[in-house]
Amino acid sequence: HWSRVKGRLRSTVGEDVYSSWFARMDLESVQDDSVHLSVPTRFLKSWIQAHYAERVLNAWQAEMPQVHRVDLTVRSAMRNVAPANKEAAAPAEARRTETSNNRHAPELRATATAPVSASHEALGGSPLDPRLTFASFVLGRANTLAHAAARQVAEGRRGDPVMFNPLYIHAGVGLGKTHLLQAVTWAGNSGPDRKVLYLTAEKFMYGFVAALKTQTALAFKEALRGIDVLVIDDMQFLQGKTTQAEFCHTLNALIDAGRQVVIAADRPPSDLESLDERVRSRLAGGLVVEMSSLGEELRLGILKSRVAAARAHHASFEVPEPVLDYLARTITHNGRDLEGAINRLLAHSKLNATPVTLEMAEREVRDLIRPQEPKRIKIEDIQRVVARQYNVSRSDLLSSRRTANVVRPRQVAMYLAKTLTLRSLPEIGRRFGGRDHTTVLHAVRKIEALVGKDVALQDEVETLKRQLQE
Ligand code: ADP
Ligand code: MG
Repeated sequence: HWSRVKGRLRSTVGEDVYSSWFARMDLESVQDDSVHLSVPTRFLKSWIQAHYAERVLNAWQAEMPQVHRVDLTVRSAMRNVAPANKEAAAPAEARRTETSNNRHAPELRATATAPVSASHEALGGSPLDPRLTFASFVLGRANTLAHAAARQVAEGRRGDPVMFNPLYIHAGVGLGKTHLLQAVTWAGNSGPDRKVLYLTAEKFMYGFVAALKTQTALAFKEALRGIDVLVIDDMQFLQGKTTQAEFCHTLNALIDAGRQVVIAADRPPSDLESLDERVRSRLAGGLVVEMSSLGEELRLGILKSRVAAARAHHASFEVPEPVLDYLARTITHNGRDLEGAINRLLAHSKLNATPVTLEMAEREVRDLIRPQEPKRIKIEDIQRVVARQYNVSRSDLLSSRRTANVVRPRQVAMYLAKTLTLRSLPEIGRRFGGRDHTTVLHAVRKIEALVGKDVALQDEVETLKRQLQE
């Protein structure tokens, strides 16, 4: 259960939040309706309790409904230090994986045992993924503008006039925000004379709060202001009045000093409800670019680049063109799922030593497939299905006969036509033997009223709807 609970937490709060706050949370015990968890520092404990208590409980309840209490305690220092040391030596790739659950360990340890270095640790920036560069970023209609702006920022030199500040990129989950921001950071830092700092909003908060606690806030602020390009990811997670006020100061100070700020969030500045109005308008005052959902061509491009990347280590791995087409056509608009699909195909073909086929792909990625567009229901279908259900003929429904055994089915059919299609009342009347729109309206109201009272009718209507929607 514990690993599934962690999985749930990770998917509700996102990878960055998860690794900042939960990666070092351990399960101590489960007893009847209560769960006992532990974290290495007091600060972490109070932070989680203040901000995430409910989500932790929800994650447990989703796995074990009987759980009604989650206790969080600080575990003894002895257990904190050992894993933290290992981390420093781990290769970059291993540090990214979820098995290494102490990605931020040195920083946590710093706050626990060596408070003075807290602000320095915070300024180390968030971990960067070596694969997220401009070279691996695939261009398409959805992201041309964002990409051009990001490139411009990355290629600027110290002292260049800043063209748009801040650069604010927003898009839904998995559409490449983090990729683009990290690409800016890699590219910017490869030049000699600029300091680009990539921080998730969570990390910014953490760094700042930690600095406050250890009275190094001033140093933290000063250090932040020495940055040439400040890159903040997942801005929507910037919470708390003090942090926001501090962020606002930093933003103003950097912009006034002609330094570049780049921000990504899952929504436009105007929708960051919890943010102070002044911050919002400052954010909106630069260049705001949206990346829209990945079109099919872009999805195909991303798939191909993922396959190429995988082939660097697994030369025999091949994904036939029809499989790529299939994936690009059917997988949701989310870059993460595309990556996930390729990983699964790779794992499957490696483990079973079999080539990738269309059948295999269909089986392996079934849960990533975008739900079918709701079926367009035709009025003729409604008439046919209703006629069959009530044992009358379709021409009866269209006729002017007014016997009870035809009137009710006809009204039901009109009601369904109104609720399941986008046709107007006059159009529906026309399709039912040239009736007036008021007749249709009367039928719709009649059935609406009856469905509320008559359980049998309600049942019939539901059954008909289900048949039509299948
Ligand atoms: P976001 O931060 O917007 O949620 P990410 O940047 O984490 O999304 O992207 C999710 C995945 O999709 C990553 O593996 C990323 O490399 C990939 N991806 C998204 N857009 C692109 C693109 N244009 N080119 C290449 N890979 C992309
Ligand atoms: Mg992201």
